[in-house]
Amino acid sequence: MKCEECLELLSLYLDKELDQKSLNALKEHLALCKNCMAVFHTLEKTISLSFNYYKKNYHKVPRKVSSQVFYELRIRYKKSRF
Ligand SMILES: [Zn+2]
Repeated sequence: MKCEECLELLSLYLDKELDQKSLNALKEHLALCKNCMAVFHTLEKTISLSFNYYKKNYHKVPRKVSSQVFYELRIRYKKSRF
């Protein structure tokens, strides 16, 4: 799996929309790839922070916070790689 594919799957995983087969592939890649593992941890942390923020400020958690976070993260990821 390419790192880019892994990041796509991460987004689905965090939205709880990942099927078991893809989840296994994702876990396999994370076990081998330190970069994506780091992204995964950052993403989880960022999302929990976002949820806290939305809870405090809007009393409403948006359905697709992780998609938004992932989108921003992917831009950063690309910038740092290329
Ligand atoms: Zn990777």
